[in-house]
Amino acid sequence: LGGSISRAIQQMSNATIIDEKALNDCLNEITRALLQSDVQFKLVRDMQTNIKKIVNLDDLAAGHNKRRIIQQAIFNELCKILDPGKSSFIPKKGKPSVVMFVGLQGSGKTTTCTKYAYYYQKKGWKPALVCADTFRAGAFDQLKQNATKAKIPFYGSYMESDPVKIAEEGVERFKKENCDLIIVDTSGRHKQEAALFEEMRQVSEAAKPDLIIFVMDSSIGQAAFDQAQAFKQSVAVGAVIITKMDGHAKGGGALSAVAATKSPVIFIGTGEHMDEFEVFDVKPFVSRLLGMGDWSGFMDKIQEVVPMDQQPELLQKLSEGNFTLRIMYEQFQNLLKMGPIGQVFSMLPGFSAELMPKGHEKESQAKIKRYMTMMDSMTNEELDSSNPKLMNESRMMRIARGAGRPIRDVMEMLEEYKRLAKVWSKMKGLKIPKKGEMSSL
Ligand code: GDP
Ligand code: MG
Repeated sequence: LGGSISRAIQQMSNATIIDEKALNDCLNEITRALLQSDVQFKLVRDMQTNIKKIVNLDDLAAGHNKRRIIQQAIFNELCKILDPGKSSFIPKKGKPSVVMFVGLQGSGKTTTCTKYAYYYQKKGWKPALVCADTFRAGAFDQLKQNATKAKIPFYGSYMESDPVKIAEEGVERFKKENCDLIIVDTSGRHKQEAALFEEMRQVSEAAKPDLIIFVMDSSIGQAAFDQAQAFKQSVAVGAVIITKMDGHAKGGGALSAVAATKSPVIFIGTGEHMDEFEVFDVKPFVSRLLGMGDWSGFMDKIQEVVPMDQQPELLQKLSEGNFTLRIMYEQFQNLLKMGPIGQVFSMLPGFSAELMPKGHEKESQAKIKRYMTMMDSMTNEELDSSNPKLMNESRMMRIARGAGRPIRDVMEMLEEYKRLAKVWSKMKGLKIPKKGEMSSL
């Protein structure tokens, strides 16, 4: 997809005159590529219309980089499709919330339920899993296995065949046990059928979820819109999770799912393992969809806001892929000041959505400051090492004592470091673009 789109834009820019025809040819080419990537036809057509409205070639004075303007317009339009204009229900730590998962069989509900629970558990929540899938033999065993591995309490039954009853009992039990995130897994069918939707309605009535998450396999193709819409029509879907993004699918179906449910994508699944689960971030996703690479927006931003003389050093560090605690410390400083480099880093997927979630800026700042206090108790050797084994228990204890924090805070900070190091490592071997190359797709 990325190839076809960049080729289309390249072709257009090679044209001596960028006129209506050159733009149309380019847009038609892009339309084809997006359709092949499972973006719904109507969405693509609307997008085409919008771009034509925005990019008014006659109004563009000579000297404007038309190619760049068109490229930016395409990027913005796709981002807009992924933004339903409202955020989903956000659970509050310590306050009981019920979250119900729906989706067809095989879409990844049971796997994703556990990933979701595990994600919050790592942040100190008390999640619990309820298996309201009595349709598929083995469903309870699967959930039980996952939950046991992650040490998350679960509820289900081999005997009871009524999912409504299980949902009701499970939610009630875990509310009594003061769990703050009660997750209800449900059954699916191979096809969208009336019995499934009726069951979802009933389970929803019994469990009274604060949030219903629609889980969709990224490889289902053009069926995405209808499937998402069918679920939305039967229950109050409030968020979407796209699974199997590690596969071949480009994930264009995500755009359809958002359009059909008018709900945001909140996470993506990137593998079968518990921690292969990422907070969804619109811009890197669209970059990937357009084949621009996750980092192209980031590179543009570097060029835009980092002083010229500081660019080489930063890019060099990035391309080495060696993320030390000292680099993390420096970037935290930048983030807090939100100086130029802080702005740049806030665009990195790991730094923005995870560290500074919208609406939680104050807490995020406090957290970052806490991390920095602990890093102040580290030795130079610790700060400059990229060997994760170096940080043994006695070092952690020493740092905890030095900073006057419990050791679990040090562990949390090191977890954060590992997570960011993973994001950073994707930049390794990054081709450092020469000036003028950055804005090309
Ligand atoms: P359910 O029927 O909706 O509950 O789906 P399951 O959770 O049982 O998942 C169906 C299959 O998809 C299982 O083999 C999972 O391991 C696999 N799966 C789920 N999520 C992902 C993912 O993000 N990436 C990959 N590669 N496989 C996944
Ligand atoms: Mg299941």
